[in-house]
Amino acid sequence: MVKIMKKRIYYWVYEKYIDKPVISKVILETKVMINILMAKMSPQESFLILELSGSEKQIEEALNLLKKYGEYEDIPKIIEKNKERCIDCGACIVHCPVKAIYQDEDYSVVFNEEECIGCKNCVKVCPLKAIKIFDI
Ligand code: SF4
Ligand code: SF4
Repeated sequence: MVKIMKKRIYYWVYEKYIDKPVISKVILETKVMINILMAKMSPQESFLILELSGSEKQIEEALNLLKKYGEYEDIPKIIEKNKERCIDCGACIVHCPVKAIYQDEDYSVVFNEEECIGCKNCVKVCPLKAIKIFDI
């Protein structure tokens, strides 16, 4: 059975391709599934956060194709909760666009680094400055 992997990337489309259906083309040609987690589009800039799902080979092919039309960077693990500061108020949970923050059975707030895309929403809303994002 083929193992399905997930990969999250930052992606900038080159200016000359901004009005082209780049993501659709990659999906059609590689059959990889692409979830657009975030998109900032303007006539001058197209910045996306993408989640690719598929076999290792499909993801490799998709990344090679994406490279023709823009530049990408891996999203590293970047988040850490300061356990001394956090009071588990839960204020950060609803502001996470990818549900990377949740409460476990004993109501303590947990961050899932695998899911985090580094948007910093939680950092902005935390009243105790208990979340740190690493710039790698
Ligand atoms: S908002 Fe801050 S203090 Fe509240 S649960 Fe989240 S990290 Fe902890
Ligand atoms: S930075 Fe915070 S809000 Fe943004 S994805 Fe990561 S955990 Fe969620």
